Amino acid sequence: MHGAMQAIVKTEAGPGLTLIDVPVPEIGPGDVLIRIQKTSICGTDVHIYEWDDWASKTIHAPQTIGHEFAGVVEKVGRDVSEVCVGDLVSGEGHIVCGHCRNCRAGRRHLCQTPNAIGVNRDGAFAEFLSMPSSNVWRVDPTISPEVLSLFDPLGNAVHAALSWDLLGEDVLITGAGPIGIMSVIVARHAGARHVVITDLNAYRLSLAEACDATIALDIDAGTIAEAQQALGMIEGFDVGLEMSGNPRAVNDMMANMTHGGKISLLGIQNRAATVNWDDVIFKGLNIKGIYGREMYETWYKMTALIQSGLDISPLITHRLHYTEYEKAFEVMASGESGKVILDWTEPVK
Ligand code: NAD
Ligand code: ZN
Repeated sequence: MHGAMQAIVKTEAGPGLTLIDVPVPEIGPGDVLIRIQKTSICGTDVHIYEWDDWASKTIHAPQTIGHEFAGVVEKVGRDVSEVCVGDLVSGEGHIVCGHCRNCRAGRRHLCQTPNAIGVNRDGAFAEFLSMPSSNVWRVDPTISPEVLSLFDPLGNAVHAALSWDLLGEDVLITGAGPIGIMSVIVARHAGARHVVITDLNAYRLSLAEACDATIALDIDAGTIAEAQQALGMIEGFDVGLEMSGNPRAVNDMMANMTHGGKISLLGIQNRAATVNWDDVIFKGLNIKGIYGREMYETWYKMTALIQSGLDISPLITHRLHYTEYEKAFEVMASGESGKVILDWTEPVK
């Protein structure tokens, strides 16, 4: 396909993003061209907008950003047989090398050199996206495109939470950002007994409460130990999901785990963060670093969870047209939001 399309682009090194016309991407023999319907803004996109240290080291302008999307297949390459024009799809944004040891063993989430759409190559905040067909995830069309655009972050929550047995267990989640709150919903669906989530942001704590957390704890107002007491817990949490990226949260979590407890670390810590190793060693904690989603078990689970009634729609707090992206980024940066969705289907007014 030839012609131009609109895209949200980091046009040069520095803060901000620009909506410009760029060429519709070419597709190779194994690629799929997707007509974008909905995209969702991630914290990573906000870092790219604001141009923090990480972004300035990682992003090479000009580049189209964004990686949370849903759309419909517009065109497929010559060698693509498993995806058809008209399919409703999302896609795995980590494009793996395919030939390192882990890739060849089927452990693609542990690829040595993954490339991320919207970070290392052009992304999804555009009218069209090209990606390898192996990364495309088809779903049944009863799943709404809005919910489907959240599969990337939902996959982080599902990967982190379902790394451990949750049935009848007590779960502590630190950080009530969108991924922390999705983890509450997943842990509930998976049959956890108590699900306690912490944050300091009142807006997000009330959203977590609405999503059925047992306790949504403001850590400036009370301690996790007090929450345990209120619930009649004696030995500590069985499973911990760290989703804040804050070092204080990690240490609070470790101090409140049971012996032999299991922890998923998803939140990205700064390099200077320190850990109380005594808790790790003397409690015999199991700690697992989580990056991305398992390909494609997490995608399978997400689909099945949604089909079996998992409802993440309460997390969508804002819906805007893509031309209003400045306002959307402002809302995201304020912390007074759940997920912010951009629509690409309505014509430009
Ligand atoms: P977010 O920044 O929206 O949410 C983090 C929340 O943690 C905020 O609401 C913040 O108020 C809260 N917080 C800060 N300090 C806290 C403390 N001491 N105790 C409890 N809560 C505290 O992030 P998100 O989009 O929900 O993502 C969660 C984390 O996961 C982020 O650190 C993000 O960078 C990271 N992430 C990792 C991966 C991965 O593959 N490993 C993928 C996506 C996101
Ligand atoms: Zn690889």
